Amino acid sequence: MTNQQLHQRRSQVIAQGMGALYPLYVEKAENAYVWDVDGNKYIDFAAGIAVTNTGHSNKRISEAVKAQLDNFSHTCAMVTPYASFVELAEKLTELAPGDSEKKAIFLTTGAEAVENAVKVARAHTGRSGVIAFKGGFHGRTNMTMGLTGKVAPYKAGFGPFPNEIFHAPYPNDFHGVSTDQSLQALEDLFACDIEPSRVAAIIFEPVQGEGGFYKAPAEFAQGLREVCDKHGIMLIADEIQTGFARTGKMFATEYLGIEPDMMTMAKGIAGGFPISAVVGKADVMDSALPGGLGGTYAGSPLGCVAGLEVLKIIEEEQLCAKAMGIGEVVNARMTKLQESVPAIGEIRTTGAMMAIEFACPETGKPLQDLTKAVISKAQENGLILLSCGVKANVIRLLPPLTIESEVLSEGLDKLEKIILEVA
Ligand code: PMP
Repeated sequence: MTNQQLHQRRSQVIAQGMGALYPLYVEKAENAYVWDVDGNKYIDFAAGIAVTNTGHSNKRISEAVKAQLDNFSHTCAMVTPYASFVELAEKLTELAPGDSEKKAIFLTTGAEAVENAVKVARAHTGRSGVIAFKGGFHGRTNMTMGLTGKVAPYKAGFGPFPNEIFHAPYPNDFHGVSTDQSLQALEDLFACDIEPSRVAAIIFEPVQGEGGFYKAPAEFAQGLREVCDKHGIMLIADEIQTGFARTGKMFATEYLGIEPDMMTMAKGIAGGFPISAVVGKADVMDSALPGGLGGTYAGSPLGCVAGLEVLKIIEEEQLCAKAMGIGEVVNARMTKLQESVPAIGEIRTTGAMMAIEFACPETGKPLQDLTKAVISKAQENGLILLSCGVKANVIRLLPPLTIESEVLSEGLDKLEKIILEVA
């Protein structure tokens, strides 16, 4: 089967709503390389959307999962649990920032983690309202779509959404939104839309992911913490894309000097095995009745053993330091390129969560077509790239944190060549 044949078959049986960025079909993948069924080799700057931070087909993770498979693959953690389920919760509650005693729950996807964090916040506060941010992304289920702050393609045609969800602007230097303006917007919501005593939670991403890789200033997060403390609102940090060493810290919240009431985790948590978590303050997490949280596959044993191995790898292979190193290399290379490509409006790197925003140097207008052209040239140049941004004018770079420096360099050569060709 060739890429072309599979793509043809795909179009017959897979609904278009499940988008396909590249018409390439993976045969195998190893660390930062992916091979397709036609034998082409790619450097992967997507890592399955910030999931395989520990590299594709990481031997240690595969071995752990194979050993688990030989014992059992599923019993349902809510019926007859297993040691890895407890051990992973012990490790994550210890690693989550802040001094409070913590507890965890496990789920399967990122959206489910966000849904459950909101459920817990509502159970704990007895309130209904939730505030999220424009440009934020929290998932594709009904509640998380409602929280997501980008209409097309995530919300278009899918309403109605749960009510009592409100959006405030996220601070964004490049687009002229200050921390003060964002915090003032919360006060405006409290004055115009919902009284703070009916707000259960404020949810934010420490670095907005799908929205364009904008980093929250520490003063903003601290301002959110103050607002939440003042009004008894639960602060939820959505670390689904930022977590597990991606930003140069185990969690990006560590940059912000705050302790959220809850954090959502998924993606990099288990290097590609579907498991997610909510970790939060113990008294908050205990607010739901037994049986009110969870799911059939929640905390799958395969995900738990993979997650335990991921944590060991992050520590032993110093992936936080590696992420910082990757960010520095990419920042230096792209800053140099910017000298000859004025369409590069801004380069943003928080560790290895890295983005290039294309904007017209004269008008500041977002350059979507240029961004699209970069993405579409990637495949023929042997590179896998992702875009993001509310205006679809940002290229994001998320290589595995285990990428060899020569491979990173080669990938950046390809990226430079593509940008120079299309800009
Ligand atoms: N929150 C954030 C910050 C995300 O980046 C994502 C996925 N891109 C989600 C939630 C949803 O995760 P999932 O696709 O696993 O449901």
